Amino acid sequence: MRAVVIHAPKDLRVEERADVAPGPGQVVVRIGAGGICGSDLHYYQHGGFGAVRLREPMVLGHEIAGMVAALGTGVSSLAVGDPVAVNPSLPCGACRYCLAGQPNHCLDMRFYGSAMRMPHVQGGFSELLVCEAPRAVKLPQGMAISLAAFAEPLSVCLHAARQAGPLMGARVLVTGAGPIGCLAVAVARHAGAREIVATDLLSTPLLTARRMGADRTIAVAEDPDALRGYAVDKGHFDVVFEASGSAAALKAAIEVARPGATIVQLGLGGDVTLPLSALVAKEIGLRGTFRFQEEFPLALEVMARGDIDPRPLLSATMGIEEAVAAFELAGDRNRAMKVQIAF
Ligand code: ZN
Repeated sequence: MRAVVIHAPKDLRVEERADVAPGPGQVVVRIGAGGICGSDLHYYQHGGFGAVRLREPMVLGHEIAGMVAALGTGVSSLAVGDPVAVNPSLPCGACRYCLAGQPNHCLDMRFYGSAMRMPHVQGGFSELLVCEAPRAVKLPQGMAISLAAFAEPLSVCLHAARQAGPLMGARVLVTGAGPIGCLAVAVARHAGAREIVATDLLSTPLLTARRMGADRTIAVAEDPDALRGYAVDKGHFDVVFEASGSAAALKAAIEVARPGATIVQLGLGGDVTLPLSALVAKEIGLRGTFRFQEEFPLALEVMARGDIDPRPLLSATMGIEEAVAAFELAGDRNRAMKVQIAF
């Protein structure tokens, strides 16, 4: 079987690997679709992000879905042929954060395609994947595998929405209109936001933000003053989802957030300087959000009902043999939003 393996920045290879057999409590999933995520792109372009650096070859990928191909002993919850989405998150269930209901902060997390631990946790961009049975979540009736591969990024945005508090009737700003920003738009719309404005440096991704539910979009590179209109009378937005990781976007968000607003920081950026006096005087809550907890099956349900449809995000589907081209395309924000690899 073949797998997509990152060795170093810009050194991505499709490699033959030995076939795999499930151990007790495990299943083999024949992967059908895998979405390329921003973190996969960070490994491909820069060899990591922040303190997380690639130190050995690693199979990429954590937005994956497929079909159960074999069962290990003791697995009764699934059958061969079941379509499943694979939850890339596997907390230990025993550490202090798992016991406190914060499994996304697990001290012994095994998250697919992540170089946080050594040895790295290999990812899911492989034709066959052995995984613990609880990771494989059976799809709602009739759901396409390519749609199911959006469960992970949608889970991230559902979790982010919970950090924001109630969105019913809220005026929402989303800064950064990549796949995560666009899914945040869709989640806010679904949750009852009364007004959603989305910004990006570029105008192309904003076309998708419109299709995902934004009322107004602003390309800040072309129209740098348009957002400033929302700063009058101490600001306009009740909630901001900052999905760009850019210091300029966060500063602008503080300017246009109304007193008492919540800014949820989704984008990963470097160290930034903030206008603390505005943050303090406007009593703005600035919250991080990290991965997800129990939102994964919820994301599948929400998509199965058609409440949130991520398909406008899917720019291209390419075969595993074209993996390098797929990563190049996914990294070009003028040409692509979400690129999936078909296995
Ligand atoms: Zn734990």
